[in-house]
Amino acid sequence: MYTNENLMEKIISLCKRRGFIFPGSEIYGGLANAWDYGPLGVEVKNNIKRMWWDRFVRRRSDIFGLDAALIMNPRVWEASGHLKEFSDPLTECRKCHERFRADQLEDAHACPACGGELTDPLQFNLMLKTYLGPAEEKANEVYFRPETAQGMFVNFKNMLDTMRPRLPFGIAQIGKAFRNEITPGNFIFRTREFEQMEIEYFIRPPKNNEWEEQFDMWRREMEQWIADLGVDASRVREVEIPDGERAHYSKRTIDFEYDFPFGRKELYGLAYRTDFDLKNHEGYSGENLKYRDPETLEEFWPHVIEPTWGVDRSVLVTLLEAYREDAEKKRVYLKLPPKLAPYQAAVFPLLSNKSALIEKAENIYKSLQSSSSKLHVAWDERGNVGKRYYAQDEIGTPWCVTIDFQTLEDDTVTVRDRDTAQQVRKSIAELDDYVKEMIGW
Ligand code: ATP
Repeated sequence: MYTNENLMEKIISLCKRRGFIFPGSEIYGGLANAWDYGPLGVEVKNNIKRMWWDRFVRRRSDIFGLDAALIMNPRVWEASGHLKEFSDPLTECRKCHERFRADQLEDAHACPACGGELTDPLQFNLMLKTYLGPAEEKANEVYFRPETAQGMFVNFKNMLDTMRPRLPFGIAQIGKAFRNEITPGNFIFRTREFEQMEIEYFIRPPKNNEWEEQFDMWRREMEQWIADLGVDASRVREVEIPDGERAHYSKRTIDFEYDFPFGRKELYGLAYRTDFDLKNHEGYSGENLKYRDPETLEEFWPHVIEPTWGVDRSVLVTLLEAYREDAEKKRVYLKLPPKLAPYQAAVFPLLSNKSALIEKAENIYKSLQSSSSKLHVAWDERGNVGKRYYAQDEIGTPWCVTIDFQTLEDDTVTVRDRDTAQQVRKSIAELDDYVKEMIGW
């Protein structure tokens, strides 16, 4: 467990102070559990999404990308079972009227807030409803998607027709999902609007146990992903979800749980959805959603393995794992994996009132930025260099490059490392390669 007390408070405060994450609609007193990503937060979030998309879509020939509409035909949710099944048990305290998810309470009868008596739980549907068009009537009712997955199933036929994939193959999507959660909270851990990264990986029906192999393959991919976020494996548990507790579509589910400072909770999930979705969508839509084997010409519904990642929970664990307090040097730093940091490098002219230093530093800043579109570079000329280092440490910038008087003579700069606070002298010519090599690009 964490030795750092009040870690969540520290992270939330750092996020606000340094422009990572702000409370949503703050000038109006906020909106419960809504959060806005600021300039640095959006960089971390985009870096995570880019790493995911690169790894699972662009670097693989068997997975195809998709960006489907958030609002889908409501029949989708009939077919998927969400209208009927996608609910949590809601209970209310008869005394203080606070509401809870009954399945998350230790004592199903006593209110955890005041000890009052709780009502019998009712199933509460988590789908967020709205209306399309000017009339608020039943015929215009639609839902914001509660998962990105259904976009993949309803486009299955389009994928077959356009990409002509051979099994096994996957469809991947990153996008927003909405759930009218009963008890949102813990910062960006549980919100009503959040982002997911999901893959539907289609395989042959399980005559030959192929699904178990593919399930294990995805399990390993997820373990590797978690390691690449910089997460200490000792804080992750893989939990087999027993019969009766799995989602309505799943035959096997593993939750990847993480020891958050507020308890052990789900980070990601891996589920075997069988042919549940394709079969139901064929039934409801009347479209043939079978795959035709090009050799045997046999037609069947592929089965599907679904690894799913929450983007916001990924940002949260990345920040929690990175937070460091260095008592000796009286500094806080974020030990972020360099490719996930908001900036990969910062450039400082030693003094802000010496035009020769500024000019030289500006050239280095521009050349670092343009040499590789992947490097995001910060510029700072305020205050003294020591303070600038500490400011960059706190936002996780791995390397600070300082241009001093020696630079003007021999074209070398100092490069200071965030984690060790050590400085080395490098020539300007080797700077770009040095940073890229350290990042691992
Ligand atoms: P939980 O048990 O925490 O409610 P879940 O089992 O309902 O989660 P899934 O339906 O498996 O979650 O959703 C896939 C992923 O989406 C989760 O592993 C999580 O990372 C993310 N996620 C789900 N609900 C939320 C939410 N309300 N806020 C932020 N992320 C979420």
